[in-house]
Amino acid sequence: MNYAFEPAPLPAVLIRNDDRKFPVHRIYCVGRNYAAHAREMGATGREAPFFFMKPADAVVAIPPDTTGRIAWPPATVDLHHEVELVVAIGKDGANIDKARAHEHIWGYAIGLDLTRRDLQQAAKDKRHPWEAGKSFDQSAPVGPIHPVATTGLLARGAIWLDVDGQRRQSGDLADLIWSVEEIIAQLSALFELRRGDLIFAGTPEGVGPVNAGQCMDCGIEGLGQMAVCIA
Ligand code: MN
Repeated sequence: MNYAFEPAPLPAVLIRNDDRKFPVHRIYCVGRNYAAHAREMGATGREAPFFFMKPADAVVAIPPDTTGRIAWPPATVDLHHEVELVVAIGKDGANIDKARAHEHIWGYAIGLDLTRRDLQQAAKDKRHPWEAGKSFDQSAPVGPIHPVATTGLLARGAIWLDVDGQRRQSGDLADLIWSVEEIIAQLSALFELRRGDLIFAGTPEGVGPVNAGQCMDCGIEGLGQMAVCIA
């Protein structure tokens, strides 16, 4: 195949204890999937899950035992952290039954759904789409994927985030409103899932600003920790 110019490199994230990389196809995100976070964003009750996307090349692969560095993104004065469980899809499928959804899970990672909250709020106010708030360059730092063969299916476990050593977010995967398997079933009714897809499963309460020069440490029980600083 001849292209008019050199294609952009394929986005990829790292795999724990594996020299190979995990090529990223798409990044799906779930909105308001913890009750206390839904309340802090002004929603109530168990609404149907809703989804948005980030471009695959918004991903930033954060190596283990290394502090990732993200440049301050343009056009915002209110950058927010959202620590999330990331589910890596390893098998294609559409209209996946919840009972078989686990067969499509390749592994799990820690992720940050970085958000330009001021631009997202402006979009919400105008009933505009969320891309400017959510889908900017480097908005998706992701740690190494832990294969499900080594972790087992994750249904509970602490998820937390500190900014400069202060605990900001603290939750448990058991408190997801929609389980990972339910998310896979519902998402695959809207889009054919492909291996290489990443799903950000939603953030617990405590989202807030992270300023230039600050560092985030975050973790999920069973998946270790991830450190990212904002330049
Ligand atoms: Mn999020």
